[in-house]
Amino acid sequence: MKQKKLLYTGKAKSVYLTDVKGKLIVEFRDDITAFDGGKKDTLKNKGSYNAGVSAFVFSCLEKNGVKTHFLEMLDKKRMVVRELSMIPLEVIVRNLAAGSIVRNYPFKEGTPLKPPVIVIDYKDDSRHDPMLNDELIVALKIATPAELKKIKTAALKINTLLSGLLVKQGITLVDFKLEFGRQGKTIYLGDEISMDSMRLWDKKTGESLDKDVYRFNKGDVMATYNRVAARITKKPGAAAKKTVADPKKAKTKTR
Ligand code: 5GP
Repeated sequence: MKQKKLLYTGKAKSVYLTDVKGKLIVEFRDDITAFDGGKKDTLKNKGSYNAGVSAFVFSCLEKNGVKTHFLEMLDKKRMVVRELSMIPLEVIVRNLAAGSIVRNYPFKEGTPLKPPVIVIDYKDDSRHDPMLNDELIVALKIATPAELKKIKTAALKINTLLSGLLVKQGITLVDFKLEFGRQGKTIYLGDEISMDSMRLWDKKTGESLDKDVYRFNKGDVMATYNRVAARITKKPGAAAKKTVADPKKAKTKTR
C-alpha cells in the first residue's frame, strides 16, 4: 500500500490518503498537547506507544464483536484504517469521578459512578468542546436517535471490555473518550484508544498512568507511557507462566 496525500492534521495524528479505495493511513506523531493546544511538546517515541496500545485495544475489541476502523499496522507509528465519515462527537465514559466532572460538578474525586456515566461533547475546539444532550445532537443533525442509541450501547460494551482488560494488569479505567464514524449505514469506532484518551490509575498506588502526567507535570511522561504501554499489551499471566517454567528447567538440569 502506498501512502498518498495528507488529508488531515490533528493535534497528535495525521491522516493520509492511500492508493487503496476506502483505506487511510493514520500516523501517530510524537506531538502531545493539552488544554485545547495551550500546552504543546514533542516527545520522542510517544507516537509509537499510543499507536501500539490503540492497535492492541482495537484488536481485542474486534475479537469481542465491536466494529472498529482498525485494519493493520504498517510500522510502529502508522495504522491502516477503514475510511469513515467521522461524527463530531466525543463520547466520554466515566467509571470514577475525575477531571472535568470534579471541576464542574460537586463530585469528590474517585467517587465510583455506578452505572457508568456517559457524557457527550461536541467536537469543536473553537467552542471548547461544549457538552451536548440527546435533543441537541438530534436537532443539530449530528446523529439520529437510533444512531445515538447504537453509539451509547457500543460505548458501554467497550467500557466493560476495556475495564476488564486493564484490571488484569492492575490498572483502573477511570474514564476515556471515544469517537465514532460511519461507513454507509454502519457505525464504527474510530480515532484512537491510548494513554492520551484514557484516564488510568494504578490499582494499588492510585498513580496516574496517562496524559494527566503531562497535563499536571506529575513526572516523566515518556517513562510512564513506556511502562503503561508494556503493561497493557502484555499477555495476562505471561510473567507467572515464566516462573512456573523456570523450576522445571532447573529440575531437568540436576537430573
Ligand atoms: P475530562 O472531561 O475529564 O477532561 O476528560 C475525560 C476523559 O476523556 C479523559 O480520559 C480524557 O483524556 C478524555 N478526553 C476528553 N477530551 C479529550 C480530547 O479532546 N482529546 C483526547 N485525546 N482525550 C480527551
